[in-house]
Amino acid sequence: MESASNSPSADEIASLVVERLLNSGKLPDLANSNLMTIEEQTIEQVDQVTRLVMGELLAKQSKQAVPPTSCPKCGGAMKERKPQHRSLESRRGKVNFMTDVFHCEACRLDFFPSDENTAV
Ligand SMILES: [Zn+2]
Repeated sequence: MESASNSPSADEIASLVVERLLNSGKLPDLANSNLMTIEEQTIEQVDQVTRLVMGELLAKQSKQAVPPTSCPKCGGAMKERKPQHRSLESRRGKVNFMTDVFHCEACRLDFFPSDENTAV
C-alpha cells in the first residue's frame, strides 16, 4: 500500500505506460509480437518517461541547491541570470531541464547551482 493517497502506485504508472504504448501504434500486432519486440518498445516508452522524470528532478534540484556566492574559479562576484534550458546526456538519453544560472563577468563563465558549480 502507498502511504500517500494522492501518490500513484507503480501499478497505476505501469497501466498508463501500457495505454500510451498501445496508443502509439508501435506495437500494431501485439497478438503476434515476440518478447524481444515487446521489450524493445517497453524500454523505449519507459526511457522517455525516465528522461522526463530526471529533467523534472534536475530542475527542482537547481531550485533547491545552494547558489554559488562567489565565482568558484576567481572568487569574484556572481551575477544571477535568467533561468535557461540545459541538456545533459544520461545513460537513458538526453535530459532537458530549466536551471538557474550564475555568471562571472571576469571569467566569462556561467555556473549552475545544480552540479557543484560546474563551469561551462
Ligand atoms: Zn570568475
